[in-house]
This record gives sequence, C-alpha cells and structure tokens, in this order.
Amino acid sequence: MARILVVEDTREIAEALQDSLESEGYEVALATKAAHALSLVTSHKPEVLVLDLGLPDRDGYTVLEELRARGSSVPVLILSARREEADKLRGFRLGADDYVTKPFSRPELLARLAALLRRGATSAAAAPASRQVTQLSDDALRDRYGLTPRQITIARLVADGQTNAEIAEKLGISFFTVRNIIVQLLGRLGAPSRAAVGALLFAEPNESD
Ligand code: CA
Repeated sequence: MARILVVEDTREIAEALQDSLESEGYEVALATKAAHALSLVTSHKPEVLVLDLGLPDRDGYTVLEELRARGSSVPVLILSARREEADKLRGFRLGADDYVTKPFSRPELLARLAALLRRGATSAAAAPASRQVTQLSDDALRDRYGLTPRQITIARLVADGQTNAEIAEKLGISFFTVRNIIVQLLGRLGAPSRAAVGALLFAEPNESD
C-alpha cells in the first residue's frame, strides 16, 4: 500500500489525517517538524507528502525547497491555512504538485492524494527508454535558451534525475556551484522546477499542440 508522509504540527489535525488515511489503507508516517520531515523522506521513502507550511522550526516552503534541491520528485500536496494567491504561487514555484487550504474537506483531500499517487505511478511506469522521445539538441538549448555548455551539461544531468551532490561529484565542482548554475538555468529555461527541466529537454515527438 502507498506510503504517505504527513508533515503537520497541530496534533488534532495530524491525528485526524492519520486516521482517515490509515482507514483508506495507506501507510502513514508523521512529522511535526521540518527537520524530522526531511529525515523521514530519506528513511521512509513516501510516495506522496502532505505538507503544512507553518511548522515550529522552519517554514514548510524550506522543506519543499530542500527536497527539490536534493533531486526528489516525490509529489507534494501543501495543506495550509494560508489562502493568499501569492502563497499558493510560491508553493507551486518551489515544486508543489497541489495545494489545499484549511479548513479542508476530507473526501476532497483523499481524492486529490489518490490523483497524485496515480500520476506518480503512471510516470514511474513510463520508463524514458521505452517511450518515443526526442531530446532537445545542444544547439537548440544554446540558440533557443542561451545556455552555456556547462549549463547544458548540468541541465542534462538534472533531467536524468541526478541530485546536486551527484552532479557536483561527477563534474568535480562544489555543491554550491551546482546549485547556483541550476538556479541560472531554471531562469533561462523558464522552468519552475527541476522536474520541469526534464519535461522540457525530453519533448514527445508528433505533438500537435
Ligand atoms: Ca502548522
């Protein structure tokens, strides 16, 4: 059964969520702090995350940012009392997959989580090698997006799902240099997240739209 990590510091909400998710057959891990959430992602390998924004140690956004910086593409649903459009946009920009405001409807939350899990299962099943894909050429990346050769190399490694640490080691440069270059190339590509770099570099052929 699917594993879900709930990051929520309000005990009543966390427990209610855990109950309803477990009664749906999910395996649930609970974190009440940002630091704990990040270590549980590594140890528990959840297939989806429910992420509160107001946490006692660090903002939920930083959890999301750190996750994506590590190259994790686990689907994240933000569950927050913050209803402003700017908050939602910030979440999506940092790589969130969905956003539900509190107070929330339990059936709706469950339906959205099920949709995220289905999507995750579909993309995992569609192995890149078995799909008919074309890769944007180096020339296209240079001419169309103005990427430098080093940015192109790193964009391809990001699209390949490598983490910053792996890229740094492979190229013999520092983790921070890799991070800075990725920020630059996301900007040039107009990509909101690392996952979007993959989507951009590997375009399906014969797309009419
Ligand atoms: Ca909270």
